[in-house]
Amino acid sequence: MRRVSVFGATGSIGQSTLDLIGRAPEAYHVVALTGGRNVKKLAEDARRLNAEIAVTGYEACLPALKEALAGSGIEAAAGEQALLEAADRPTDWTMSAIFGAAGLAPGLRSLRHGGTLALANKESLVTAGPLLLSEAAKHGAKVLPVDSEHSAVFQALVGEDIAHVERVIITASGGALRSWPKEKLATATVADASAHPNWDMGQRITIDSASMFNKAMELIEAKEFFGFRPDQIEVLVHPQSLVHALVGFNDGALMAHVGPSDMRHAIGYALNWPERAHLPVERLDLAKIGQLDFAAPDFERWPALTLAHHVMERGGLSGTIFNAAKETALDLFIAGEIGFQDMARLVERVLQNFWAEEPSATNGHNNAVIPLENTLEYDQIARIRAREIAPELTAG
Ligand code: NDP
Repeated sequence: MRRVSVFGATGSIGQSTLDLIGRAPEAYHVVALTGGRNVKKLAEDARRLNAEIAVTGYEACLPALKEALAGSGIEAAAGEQALLEAADRPTDWTMSAIFGAAGLAPGLRSLRHGGTLALANKESLVTAGPLLLSEAAKHGAKVLPVDSEHSAVFQALVGEDIAHVERVIITASGGALRSWPKEKLATATVADASAHPNWDMGQRITIDSASMFNKAMELIEAKEFFGFRPDQIEVLVHPQSLVHALVGFNDGALMAHVGPSDMRHAIGYALNWPERAHLPVERLDLAKIGQLDFAAPDFERWPALTLAHHVMERGGLSGTIFNAAKETALDLFIAGEIGFQDMARLVERVLQNFWAEEPSATNGHNNAVIPLENTLEYDQIARIRAREIAPELTAG
């Protein structure tokens, strides 16, 4: 039996992961399931899959979790330290699907026992890519991509020499507001930005898709994970979300990965790797689909893409600051404190602020490993700075 843990089990990726695991209960021993505030779901799944332990990230949720698990024999725990302790429990395979930078420390910790980390939490690579990968190498652990675009690139590279790659193209649906006129974007509400045309995802990533911050994060993720140069990574708008990525080789060939918009494909690939196994996802009928559309991204409409390129060029702690400012901007947008387009303005202002005031910290050599404490410190400072700057945007 394979020992598995799922961090962020109550979320969109977590639930898709449990769907796959739950279809073959005889094949898996579930070690830890973690969640946040959705304690009812967490306890339900822990009981159904007979987990060793269920952990909520929030101490205030512990009494409710204990009550929901009463009589089951399943351990209950809460808080950041408890998440780390759950990550210390040896597994063969761990899913990292907590949303945001909160997923970094548990994911890093789980690498210590040398298993496989299936990484949905792109923030880990954006915030601390070199640290995560060096920690994996140190402990003989394997990191596998779960983001559909990166899983697609990973699959297109099987059996290939990465030195022959000229470019990588990751596709973007354009998100909920792709057909809106640019002039109207300033008026977009949280509800407008939360309705993804193709993917059924968590609310935060859906809004990030509409602002293209999700794609911006994925550009940085591609650079960190595969080691491509920033000028080798392109974005292509593809409204149908069926071609997830393309890899261009030095003989002119483009290898495209085509598949349904169902995250269980990329999760299942990471779960079964290096084998392929049957997955309960739709089989595409391309004749019926008939047409696939592609367009160049509009960098004026989506300034997040340009910011990502600056972040990749600068290196150092720029990715940490970018992610922290982006998460804060998203919180402020959801709370109705800033507008849709203010999110990119705010992230840009925070980055400029750090680039001007702390050039050495935000202009590092690529792949320099920055310790976790420094990373978390800058993450916190960037969040505070973003909240300080935000009122200036709405005032002006
Ligand atoms: P969701 O918001 O649906 O779920 C997030 C999960 O993290 C939930 O289990 C939530 O708990 C938990 N969580 C949130 N904050 C904390 C915290 N502070 N401490 C502990 N647990 C916490 O997110 P998604 O599943 O959409 O995304 C998860 C990750 O996967 C993200 O990094 C995202 O970028 C990435 N990803 C997602 C894709 C998708 O299709 N959704 C596609 C590719 C990547 P609770 O809900 O109980 O509060």
